[in-house]
Amino acid sequence: MSIIQFDKKQEMLRRTVREFVEKEIVPIATEIDEQDTFPEELFQKMGQMGYNGIFVPREYGGAGMGYTERAILLEEISRHSAGLAMAVMTHHLGVAAILDFGTEEQKKKYLPDLCAGKKIGGLAVTEPSGGSDLMGHQSTGEKIGEDWVLNGRKCFITNSHVADVSVVTVRTGEDAKGRPALSGFIIEKGNEGFAPGHKENKFGLRGSIMGDLNINDCHVSGEALLGQEGKAAKIALSTIGGVGRPGMAAISVGILRACLEESVKFAKERVIYGKPLAKVPAIQSIIAKNRIDYEAGMLLTYQAIGIKDTGERSDTQSAIAKHYTTEAAVLAAKRTIDLMGGYGCVNEYPAGRYLRDAMTTIPSGGTTQIMELVIAGASLA
Ligand SMILES: Cc1cc2nc3c(=O)[nH]c(=O)nc-3n(C[C@H](O)[C@H](O)[C@H](O)COP(=O)(O)OP(=O)(O)OC[C@H]3O[C@@H](n4cnc5c(N)ncnc54)[C@H](O)[C@@H]3O)c2cc1C
Repeated sequence: MSIIQFDKKQEMLRRTVREFVEKEIVPIATEIDEQDTFPEELFQKMGQMGYNGIFVPREYGGAGMGYTERAILLEEISRHSAGLAMAVMTHHLGVAAILDFGTEEQKKKYLPDLCAGKKIGGLAVTEPSGGSDLMGHQSTGEKIGEDWVLNGRKCFITNSHVADVSVVTVRTGEDAKGRPALSGFIIEKGNEGFAPGHKENKFGLRGSIMGDLNINDCHVSGEALLGQEGKAAKIALSTIGGVGRPGMAAISVGILRACLEESVKFAKERVIYGKPLAKVPAIQSIIAKNRIDYEAGMLLTYQAIGIKDTGERSDTQSAIAKHYTTEAAVLAAKRTIDLMGGYGCVNEYPAGRYLRDAMTTIPSGGTTQIMELVIAGASLA
């Protein structure tokens, strides 16, 4: 029985996604992790299923659903491959930025292919000067006539080497108070002066490619500008706060469910002292804690996303959900490894991957310390 009342269509979506994941993702989940490969063909199939533009209105080629449905999708994928869920989650960030801030022409130009699985999206904000310091941007954009010339380097960017359409922020001047003003641009793969650079060898969320984007005298036309000149801090904050953090929370709920289900399965199957491990009170305590964290994480996550689906701001609730679920997933994964004894440390079992994946969710979309700043700021306001 679900602890949250999803409607019939949402329940049906969950069943459909679960079947898709079991058929298409479960057989290759270990390979995705071991080889850190991004399965592009599968991504195309997901586009055909309507998953890549799940929250995009039908008029732009999307499935016309909401962010709750997106969370169901991410949770179900993450249950078996948090790395692949991360690639989909970040594709959605590029899509959401264009949907929320693009002109009608930009939406019609980019969204149908991004939704259909023909193109992959991404959002490139973080720079070597520090992801937490949004206003520390060193990348620049200079306006020359109607065009722009962009320079700089982005780092830790998901889908860096596979994205066809990237939303990129750069510094284009100062605002009236002398603070850096950022502008956003939609840059297509192959644009001269824009290329992936170093690829990171992450220990977790493998299968979502992460690396640098090098921007060297990259010329783009004025039509590439996303939103108003100098107003892209809002694009970054709104997309990361409203779409990225709840997305990371949904991925973490998937990891929490994986920990609960695997710990129950192992405890029932493993025999020790002539009886199932599940009979040992200390093991039952681990299972209880895994369940509590899963249910609490689920409630916080779907509450935050439900608020967003009503059209209200949900930044604080999303920060709370992201903080709770990402930290809880690390503890649940560690407990699951403890429960399994020596088997927990063997790569044939997935618990080690859960721990690596859970640790890697923490910086993405803003670290735990940054979530605490957001939550404390809202509480003290
Ligand atoms: C798997 C993964 C995927 C990612 N994908 C993307 C992506 O697609 N696009 C993108 O733009 N970025 C992406 N990032 C980057 C991510 O947003 C940054 O890693 C994150 O914002 C932190 O920035 P940083 O790594 O530079 O750490 P820093 O900002 O240098 O922080 C270092 C430490 O200092 C702490 N700290 C910083 N400021 C404060 C403060 N004011 N108060 C208290 N503590 C503070 C942090 O909590 C952290 O512990 C991704 C990261 C990961 C790990």
